[in-house]
Amino acid sequence: MRKKVIAGNWKMNNDLNESQNLISKLTSGLSNEKINCEVIICPPFTSLQEASSLIKNTVVKLGAQNMYYEENSAYTGEVSASMLKSVGCEYVILGHSERRTIFGESDSLINKKIKKALQSNLKPIFCAGETLQERESGVTKDVIRRQVVEGLKDILINDLAQIIIAYEPVWAIGTGKTATPAQAEEVHEYIREIIGSLYNKDVSENLTIQYGGSVKPENAAELMSQKDIDGALVGGACLKADSFIKIIKSV
Ligand code: PEP
Repeated sequence: MRKKVIAGNWKMNNDLNESQNLISKLTSGLSNEKINCEVIICPPFTSLQEASSLIKNTVVKLGAQNMYYEENSAYTGEVSASMLKSVGCEYVILGHSERRTIFGESDSLINKKIKKALQSNLKPIFCAGETLQERESGVTKDVIRRQVVEGLKDILINDLAQIIIAYEPVWAIGTGKTATPAQAEEVHEYIREIIGSLYNKDVSENLTIQYGGSVKPENAAELMSQKDIDGALVGGACLKADSFIKIIKSV
């Protein structure tokens, strides 16, 4: 049985006070629930340390939204893997489409970050997805293959168990337009096929592949009932404790 994972990407939302409020609503809302999946929150850097202490002894785990691949030195504005570890992060989102498009991150930069995260015992949530234009021109699979192959370049088979892949069609992120379960499943199955050919069938069958893109309480169960969809990376709907809890409960 593959691990199901629901992760909340807070993006650039919630100051310290707002973070405390959201986490306390989330942890108290989840405390009496039977949870069938791993739950991760990814607040902004400024709330990580506080989040880490607030989620202690709860089911919630902590992730960051980005990191740089160097250990330290003159990289103004960046945060290293060991810094994230030191405030209690277990996960880090890498290759999010907003990092790729707004901040110009390339496949090779994302590959360096994934390698550094793994070396530092941080588990990458590695995002891949096509734009609307790419989907409409029929190159979705080519784009996904390139992002997955380049992102995982030189990553050893034994490290694959530490990685989660998130398929996030860019046209579905923050737009309210969700991929249909069939559209999402087709790409998830294809990602599993790529992993099978890069590594082997065992590794690909055990890999957690999340779907992300306008996941809400109303569509979560149907998406996650697809055979290759192992959870969700949630943006907007994780900013309200009750909707995030409903998504978690739909696993
Ligand atoms: C995301 O940012 O990873 C995301 C999926 O956002 P949303 O759920 O708002 O589409």
